Amino acid sequence: MLDDKHKRFLQCLLHCPMVSVKELQKNHAICFELDRVQDVSEIRNLIRILNEKLKVGQLAIRSRLCEDSNEEHFVLLSLTETEAAKHISEFSHPEIDLLKYILKEIVASETGTISSIDCINFTSSVTKLGKSDAQKALEKFLESKWLKEKEGEVSLTVRALMELEPLLRKIDSELSDCKLCGALAVKGVHCPSCNIKVHRFCLSRISRASSTLKCPTCHKQWSSFDETLNPSPSSQATTHSSQSQRYSSESQAPASSTSTCGRRRRTRRLADSDDSD
Ligand SMILES: [Zn+2]
Ligand SMILES: [Zn+2]
Repeated sequence: MLDDKHKRFLQCLLHCPMVSVKELQKNHAICFELDRVQDVSEIRNLIRILNEKLKVGQLAIRSRLCEDSNEEHFVLLSLTETEAAKHISEFSHPEIDLLKYILKEIVASETGTISSIDCINFTSSVTKLGKSDAQKALEKFLESKWLKEKEGEVSLTVRALMELEPLLRKIDSELSDCKLCGALAVKGVHCPSCNIKVHRFCLSRISRASSTLKCPTCHKQWSSFDETLNPSPSSQATTHSSQSQRYSSESQAPASSTSTCGRRRRTRRLADSDDSD
């Protein structure tokens, strides 16, 4: 049986759509009335026990790394697809249409992001929402942690990757998994030869273990992963400004009902090694 402390801990997870390791440790210390935070391995043991109990309700506490920060986040999620879909029923039908369109554009984009301006401009083609309602809807998606925004670019949170994975795969049947960890990879880098996709954090892990990096599928040598993983500030600035330019020119374009998915599906590629083959 679960005691009150366990129940409080579960309620914390129920109220927060997703928590970082630090937040998890803090919640744990509060719920279990501890003087200091416990090591995360202790909390993982507790989660294993709780997951056994949660099985009956088809719920589970799972974690995944953020595709940007590599930071682990924990989510209390439903293991049934219909239940996960219900979570977005807090929104109105036009808002859900907008969210689905935003998800579609994010998974089809080169970078796994779209600009917040584009999100609002989609309303004219997909929903009956006015621009100010779309702005409010976007704020709701960000608040409820389905989406996140950084410097005007909107992308998927760990919560969305975990809870909406079946929906994302329905939206885009070509969505790839990371060839190194097997999990869904929305943001990642592609092999220039065979086009497989890997997470940046998975690539970073194998690059630490080996001096020469090879594609796990076609075994062609990759040379410029350092540049890919750690772009210099100047190249970051260039990328960002060129993206902003592209987005601003799109946002000024007249609204059209044509999806931008096809034309924007480009991939970030690793450079071929000069001496490969
Ligand atoms: Zn991976
Ligand atoms: Zn390859």
